[in-house]
Amino acid sequence: MIELLDVYKTYERNNGNIEALRGVSLKVEEGDIFGVIGYSGAGKSTLIRMVNGLERPTRGEVLVDGRALSGITGKELRKLRQSIGMIFQHFNLLETKTVFENVAMPLVLTGKKRHEIRERTEELLEYVGLSSKARSYPKELSGGQKQRVGIARALANNPRILLCDEATSALDPQTTLSILELLRRINCEYNITIMLITHEMGVIQKICNKVAVMEKGQIIEQGDVIDVFGNPEHPTTRSFVESVIQTTVPPSILQSVEDVHRGRMFKLKFVGKLASEPVIHDMIRRFPVEVNTLFATMTEIQQTMLGYMIIQMDGRPEDIEQAARLVAERGVLIEEVRVP
Ligand code: ADP
Repeated sequence: MIELLDVYKTYERNNGNIEALRGVSLKVEEGDIFGVIGYSGAGKSTLIRMVNGLERPTRGEVLVDGRALSGITGKELRKLRQSIGMIFQHFNLLETKTVFENVAMPLVLTGKKRHEIRERTEELLEYVGLSSKARSYPKELSGGQKQRVGIARALANNPRILLCDEATSALDPQTTLSILELLRRINCEYNITIMLITHEMGVIQKICNKVAVMEKGQIIEQGDVIDVFGNPEHPTTRSFVESVIQTTVPPSILQSVEDVHRGRMFKLKFVGKLASEPVIHDMIRRFPVEVNTLFATMTEIQQTMLGYMIIQMDGRPEDIEQAARLVAERGVLIEEVRVP
């Protein structure tokens, strides 16, 4: 549905060129909630603005529904833009217009009839839970309410794609959750494909099914969210994953292990239904090893459980080896943690 093929973007500045995108390729399928994550300056905004033609690539191609944006101009480009809604970090509402007028604006611009505008705007306000605020002005609303207005406005012309530019970055955690839930509903109920950019891994974890990690204008890792969370390869991806799931041994635990120093330490990773199987129990029953659980965490991602456990095993070396092998044979990833 959305495809970027080897896209480059260079901004020319007096003090030297800036390569905001350097060979970005990605594919967003219909129905995806595709998240792009990266630190500030990674090139995320430049990338998302390519999709609705707000920015043009210096090199490479952007395709929407198989059509190259470079080949579209005038009326066709306007029509394509209507099928792509966008919401922003700072909402971009017109302060001198009421909530109703803000939401109705795209309908007015596309020349809809008065009664159609009224009906559609009322329907949208109802959908985002703001019917009672129709006559209010943006300054009378909370951040979450303003973003709901932004969402209603973006949906006005029945887009097939919704682009979200750091849409929850200015909101508190509770409001963020409610906006993410609304985006998920929009994706499910209207079958609108969503592409979002964010610097918060929690956003990716909560609603995305696909993710691309960006750094210095390039995509350093991409795939299904569960795979990237379960097996992050690049150090930057690992640090994003660590920001929401603790996967390394907490320093306080390392300290206590150093103090006691019994047996060997292992990190176990459980994905999916393995997370609810009694693997450790079976291991202890089969082999004479003593197991001490130091740390455990369990997270749900895309309806799949992802669990990490850090254990200490004491016993005869051959029993420990066999016990570890049994765990691995059951499909649990097990690796030894060396105490420095
Ligand atoms: P992000 O959204 O990940 O923070 P951006 O896409 O905004 O990253 O920026 C990527 C790089 O491109 C940054 O170095 C930024 O300063 C530069 N950049 C973005 N837009 C422009 C522009 N219009 N003119 C010049 N440089 C820009």
